[in-house]
Amino acid sequence: ATQPYDDDNIFAKILRGEIPSKKVYEDEHALAFHDINPQAPTHILVIPKGRYVSWDDFTAKADDAEIAAFIRAVGKVARDAGLVEPGYRLLANIGPDSHQEVAHLHVHIFAGRKLGPMLA
Ligand code: 5GP
Repeated sequence: ATQPYDDDNIFAKILRGEIPSKKVYEDEHALAFHDINPQAPTHILVIPKGRYVSWDDFTAKADDAEIAAFIRAVGKVARDAGLVEPGYRLLANIGPDSHQEVAHLHVHIFAGRKLGPMLA
């Protein structure tokens, strides 16, 4: 079972404006901002505004409109950043084995260089 959502996680604080972030995009359902420790020239995180621990929690509990809006926002962020032509990678870590560090769902967007075959 997924752990309960912790309102003190760092992305909850970013959503509440308690700690700053370099915002890329925001709408009713999603916020996108630059990763503080980028692993590629472009490294953006897209998060839903709802209280979801992970992709698993989100896809189990969120309603269809919320899921659709979030997925569409991820696509829009990449498109608006000009990443479609050169290409980009999406990644979400879910749970301890994946090395998920922040317990609020986030999708990574990596771009701006030739990425390797996998991020091991
Ligand atoms: P995870 O390992 O959970 O998939 O990824 C967490 C990501 O959040 C890491 O890439 C890390 O650099 C980023 N991160 C952690 N704390 C902060 C923060 O305070 N601000 C921003 N913008 N990114 C953060």
